Amino acid sequence: MKYWIYESPPHGYARVHQANCRYCRDGHGNQRIEFHRSGTWLGAFGSLDAALSFASARERRSVVVCRRCISEGLEWGENAGPA
Ligand SMILES: [Zn+2]
Repeated sequence: MKYWIYESPPHGYARVHQANCRYCRDGHGNQRIEFHRSGTWLGAFGSLDAALSFASARERRSVVVCRRCISEGLEWGENAGPA
């Protein structure tokens, strides 16, 4: 499984998705869902840890994981926002 990071500048967070997530679609996103259109996909990463490490190293963004594809409500960063 590969993982992608979605960075959303206006909201200041990065969210990690599995490549097969319907929101990610291997970095293409989902045009039918009013997902954040101003962000950037970064990837692919070979493991969740690799994606999280990369995301955490970028500035001071909050890093969260997608609750649909990774779930668990795991959060990284001091100011992780709502899903
Ligand atoms: Zn996802």
